[in-house]
Amino acid sequence: MFRMNKTTSLDPVNWDEFREQAHGMLDDIIDYLEQVRERPVWRPIPDAIREHFREALPLGPAAISSVHETFMHDVLPYAVGNIHPGFMGWVHGGGTPVGMLAEMLAAGMNANLGGRDHMPIEVEKQISIWMRELFGFPETSSGLFVTGTSMANFIALLVARYAFLGSNVRKNGVHEHRLAAYTSESAHGSVVRAFDFAGIGTDTLRQIPVNENFEMDVEALASAVKKDRESGLRPFFVSATAGTVDTGAIDDLAAIADCARREDLWFHVDGAFGALAMLAPEIAPRLSGIDRADSIAFDFHKWGQVPYDAGFILVRDGELHRKTFASAASYLRRENRALAAGSPWPCDFGLDLSRGFRALKTWYTIKVFGAEKLGQVISETCKLALYLKSRIMEQPQLELLAPVSLNIVCFRYRCAESDRVNAEIVVKLQESGVAAPSTTLIKGMLAIRAAIVNHRTGKSNIDALIDAVLAYGESMTYEHA
Ligand SMILES: *Cc1c(COP(=O)(O)O)cnc(C)c1O
Repeated sequence: MFRMNKTTSLDPVNWDEFREQAHGMLDDIIDYLEQVRERPVWRPIPDAIREHFREALPLGPAAISSVHETFMHDVLPYAVGNIHPGFMGWVHGGGTPVGMLAEMLAAGMNANLGGRDHMPIEVEKQISIWMRELFGFPETSSGLFVTGTSMANFIALLVARYAFLGSNVRKNGVHEHRLAAYTSESAHGSVVRAFDFAGIGTDTLRQIPVNENFEMDVEALASAVKKDRESGLRPFFVSATAGTVDTGAIDDLAAIADCARREDLWFHVDGAFGALAMLAPEIAPRLSGIDRADSIAFDFHKWGQVPYDAGFILVRDGELHRKTFASAASYLRRENRALAAGSPWPCDFGLDLSRGFRALKTWYTIKVFGAEKLGQVISETCKLALYLKSRIMEQPQLELLAPVSLNIVCFRYRCAESDRVNAEIVVKLQESGVAAPSTTLIKGMLAIRAAIVNHRTGKSNIDALIDAVLAYGESMTYEHA
């Protein structure tokens, strides 16, 4: 029970009752995590339950216990399933019970990390210091939590735009500047979209072809830059990918860094999930050159296992980063003492003014598990990807469609009408609740795509995926014949 306060305060009248309710809710969600393996990965939402969420605005109160019952019955069972070890779709992190608790504590503090002088900002700065250390960035670099890599890529582009065109761009925009920028055909859509949002236009961005390993063809990059210069354009930016979304390919960062230096381009790395492979000693050398980036965008909520959302942008030149966003507003005046101290504030480095305490769940995760253990999780998911590859290679009915570079495996069931059948196999897999891969197109062919990101995933989940793909494939092609 939760009785309403007679004043306008929204606090409980009886804290003991509230505490009991709270402990019960905590137990419910801990049970949910503990029993994750006993449930299907995903299940469809019954229409009746969807209907419960079409009600009119409630004017009066309800007991928290009854609202919680609705949550337990209608919401919790119908999650996307990314905490489940059988989830392999897209690139979704698994989260941890530790991160969950930290998120609760952050909500209790209800801190606003736009600015001002308080410890939560110091926690965020601590993460920046750690990330500087991890990526070999100088002390003058800046870091900022954002929703995700989509936002981080956008911020990087805005800083690069400011670096190239100067402070006038903030007043005049980019009209008639004849800019040119580069990424690969395998780049994430958020890189392309950033050019739209920044007013630079997506036509400015060249998508350089990839080699047989789906890595940017660096010679093609160099000749595209040369050609653009010859035709009077002004190349200013290149975005490399550390871990492409389709296949997990890592561009040759050192070679792209060389090209960027030669051509005086801003060197950005989209390392949404792959950048944190720096934590895994045997993978880190493959990211060499990342320390030469002007900016790195990545997510703690993918391979870092921090609960959603926790994206991050690191910029080598912190002052340039600040100048890109800082603006003077009288209500945001700074002081040397008291609450308005501590300038510059996080709001001087990005688009958001009010910001939540994403740093706390990240800090707990890194402190509690340590960088080595988080690196081992990353290594393990890559080993599982190789195990999945070996299971595919030994099955004549299955075909590997792309090299396995990190933790992503693309394959298909060989048959007539392969695209239709493989898309249907993935739908059936998801509906079965056994495993949840997603799909993508590899060289125009529909691929079953398994991205192993979750620390809970093990060999048995890989075996279950293979067994189910073979069973569905056989039954469908049998029906077909
Ligand atoms: C996931 C991903 C993104 C987008 O990140 P969000 O956190 O979803 O915004 C960008 N680039 C790559 C390579 C990704 O895998």
